[in-house]
Amino acid sequence: MPNLSYDFYSPSQITFGWGRQSELSSIVAQYGRRAFLVSGSRTLEASGQLDKLIDQVKSEGCDFKQVTTISHEPEVVDVDNLVADLVRRGAGSGDCLVAIGGGSAIDLAKAAAALVTNRESSTVKDYLEGVGAGLTIDEPPIPLIAIPTTAGTGTEATKNAVISSYDPAFKKSLRSPMMIPDAVLIDPELSVGLSPETTAHTGMDAITQLLESLISNRAQPIPQALCLHGLTLAIPAIIEAVENGTSRPAREAMAHAALLSGLALANSGLGMVHGVAAALGVHASVPHGLACAVMLPQALRVNRDAGRATLAQAGRVMRQSLVDSNLSELSAREMANMASLGSDDAATEFVIQIVEHLCERIEIPITLTKLGVTRDQIPAIVASSHGNSMSGNPKEISDEELTTLLEAMTA
Ligand SMILES: [Zn+2]
Repeated sequence: MPNLSYDFYSPSQITFGWGRQSELSSIVAQYGRRAFLVSGSRTLEASGQLDKLIDQVKSEGCDFKQVTTISHEPEVVDVDNLVADLVRRGAGSGDCLVAIGGGSAIDLAKAAAALVTNRESSTVKDYLEGVGAGLTIDEPPIPLIAIPTTAGTGTEATKNAVISSYDPAFKKSLRSPMMIPDAVLIDPELSVGLSPETTAHTGMDAITQLLESLISNRAQPIPQALCLHGLTLAIPAIIEAVENGTSRPAREAMAHAALLSGLALANSGLGMVHGVAAALGVHASVPHGLACAVMLPQALRVNRDAGRATLAQAGRVMRQSLVDSNLSELSAREMANMASLGSDDAATEFVIQIVEHLCERIEIPITLTKLGVTRDQIPAIVASSHGNSMSGNPKEISDEELTTLLEAMTA
């Protein structure tokens, strides 16, 4: 039973729907006379779609300028440079930021929006959890409008930005409830051009977030309801989204599931998959969604006892969604081969089996070796896994247990 005493945070405005990118200018007009654009989508830039969006906003009389493009997970230096640039441009009251792209662009913009108004240090490092000077975000950031073009991280709905460094190596969060974007515009049509690989990795990130938030030891009733609904959308749709990227129902389902995963994790936290995924990103440069996908089946096995009753509930709604959906191509025979759902044990086993099946179909490797991880990296990966995410894991996992598990995945 989740805790019935809680706080629930979310963006104040969510605009969701196919083709609703055309409403960007009216949303921007609510938040600023001048808007700075952070772009993370080379696909949108190359197709000319980004220019169209810029022209649309400008045609409404707003001063709209692209200030940066980012194509990698944001690092301390990226945030510091963008903040310095925005300060030079006099960014402040009456201005807003617009981020279009995947998690990298949105996280960069979230961090920059916060640090433009919090100037106690000139480097974001001093505000990150667990490293730096322990400074906090005390002043409200400038308004931020987030437009995700991938269906995965859910960062458009969360209160943290993940910032990396490679020397010294860390991947840490800048966090404040004030950092939740003010407005979110999700147009699933913007994700149509994503490659099958990115669709697979970001989609598995969303599914991981839904499952981890659902069974987190900080689980709450509203996020749990969102997680169960999100799973009924994403589980039947992910293969179709990967294999047929222009499928509108599949893209809509994945975009909606990703948003729900963000709303859930912002309020309930995550678990060991995200703890280890952050470490795999830092020490082996494994992309976030791929790291999550590889770790998810293992983590479900670790957590099956601690999360059994809730995972069983998820297993039952997931199975029903597969039966009801016309997106899923799982045959009756494949379904029948999976465990019957008579007991909580069996329904939990179904969750694990379906996740493993999806991973296999969308070509997610099952070993860390396939991701280029070597055994000698494991001590550093284990040491870096214990952040905020790991603290939400329903089962406490010791360094020895984690080492054994990761070694088995590099055999
Ligand atoms: Zn994630």
